[in-house]
Amino acid sequence: MNQYDVIVVGAGNGGLVAAAMTAKAGYRTLLLEKHNIPGGCATSFVRGRFEFEPSLHELCSEATRDDQSSVTSIFRDLGVDVPLLYEDTLLRVICRGENGYDVTLKAGWEPFLDSMEAAVPGCRESVKTFLDLINPVDDAMGLMNDGIPNPVMLMKKHSDFIRIAGHSAEEVMDAVGIPQKAKDILNTYWGYLGVPTDELNGLHYLSLLTAYIKGHPSMPYHRSHEMSLALVKVLQDNGGTIYYNREVTRFLYDGQDAVCGVIAGGEAFWAKKVISNVIPNNVFNRSDNRHISKRSRKLANARQLGMTFITIYLGLDCTMEELGVKDYSVFVVNDPNPRKQYDDRLDFGMYIVNCLNKALPDATPEGTCTLFFTLPYYPGDLPEDLSPENYKKFKNDIAEKFIKDYEQLMGISIIPHIEEISIATPITFARYLSTPRGAVYGYSNGGWDNVVTRAAMEAMDYDTANLYFCGGHYIRGDGYPSGYMTGEMAAKAVIRALKEGK
Ligand SMILES: Cc1cc2nc3c(=O)[nH]c(=O)nc-3n(C[C@H](O)[C@H](O)[C@H](O)COP(=O)(O)OP(=O)(O)OC[C@H]3O[C@@H](n4cnc5c(N)ncnc54)[C@H](O)[C@@H]3O)c2cc1C
Repeated sequence: MNQYDVIVVGAGNGGLVAAAMTAKAGYRTLLLEKHNIPGGCATSFVRGRFEFEPSLHELCSEATRDDQSSVTSIFRDLGVDVPLLYEDTLLRVICRGENGYDVTLKAGWEPFLDSMEAAVPGCRESVKTFLDLINPVDDAMGLMNDGIPNPVMLMKKHSDFIRIAGHSAEEVMDAVGIPQKAKDILNTYWGYLGVPTDELNGLHYLSLLTAYIKGHPSMPYHRSHEMSLALVKVLQDNGGTIYYNREVTRFLYDGQDAVCGVIAGGEAFWAKKVISNVIPNNVFNRSDNRHISKRSRKLANARQLGMTFITIYLGLDCTMEELGVKDYSVFVVNDPNPRKQYDDRLDFGMYIVNCLNKALPDATPEGTCTLFFTLPYYPGDLPEDLSPENYKKFKNDIAEKFIKDYEQLMGISIIPHIEEISIATPITFARYLSTPRGAVYGYSNGGWDNVVTRAAMEAMDYDTANLYFCGGHYIRGDGYPSGYMTGEMAAKAVIRALKEGK
């Protein structure tokens, strides 16, 4: 009989960690994945003689403090040993126009402050004040992770946290007196969260920025696929099962509206607990509506889908030195203002270009290199009249437009060296991840639906018995660390409930 303690739906970062943890804790675990390989976004693909990394620009593997959960601590606890390579540079940002700049930001607390001071003399103290706010924020977040703390105690003992929690990143930077140009440079990473910093929660941005600065961006040697395979191994070594090519088409409920199983590949599987790495919209669309509370349905409908991308992967027949590329990660922006960058996204407002060979010189065959262009895109950005017939032309036109722009900006010649090219759009992501409109970041982290309100409302917002969620759509927002951490959170909650016989 297909009876399990735990069924995990989807083998993305969240689902993989959740399944590995419940299996390691001794619970009979089944992981169901619709694709023929694990990882979701965390995978790789091969074209000709190149193995491409499809998603990871920079893994933020460490937390800002040793007592916090991080990719490193999760992997260590699971016994996963994937060596990571650490970068000294966070990014280079090239801003065009009259007030433009070309700044490289270093990783590490002091080197980062030094690079900010070199770019904007006199900004060091205010930038340091801003970054140091991570300490009170982390203290209070620790309490929130242990359950919702008493609000009066939070206000008395963690007033900085309360002050920051309700404000945008830019409001917090203004409050500590960061000069405009330094603020603009500091804001560059909004592109990783998908919400411009005038709307992005200050606490969320501060956490991301300081984690990258302190922990240094990292990369696995063999693409993110290596990390996904290592997590599958933990699951299997601990008696867990993974079935590929098994799309869950139905969530099953008992007489008390509690989830009790799923249907995948026409077969029913039963479990005491189900963890979904799949976005709530898709879970509810695959459920009998009568079992889903009105609140959950309204919430899923009210939420805005977050960012997706157009990505261009290039395999080139020359080395990065021959090409004239010197940096790992370059952000190109057309204006210092993140809101303007967001508004102009289809016209070079912001795009990112990575050269994996800078971090990993032997990532490609000798005499070659790869470039990876990332263009932010949002649900609704695809042309309304896009048809299957003109899809190829649409992709090629965008790729040509952005590659030519980068050639011109950097004074290099890319097009004659293209040996392999692959272009992904929101349609590609929708096909591989099954997310609505190809969203890769779950729900937008802006306005009322931010990480602080999500954490505070978690118990009320996720109210289906025996059903747990993890992944980029869950409370911590997108990103590899969030996926892994929410997988850990879901597994811990399930293990606790099973131990207590709930
Ligand atoms: C181009 C790009 C660049 C990125 N860059 C970075 C970066 O530099 N740093 C960073 O931290 N993050 C980055 N991210 C974000 C990061 O990749 C994601 O936030 C994270 O991987 C999402 O993990 P997840 O747990 O939500 O699972 P997902 O990756 O969304 O995987 C979900 C899994 O569920 C499966 N599934 C879906 N429906 C079903 C079903 N019905 N039945 C069974 N299985 C199903 C899918 O096939 C998939 O395997 C990037 C993403 C992209 C696309």
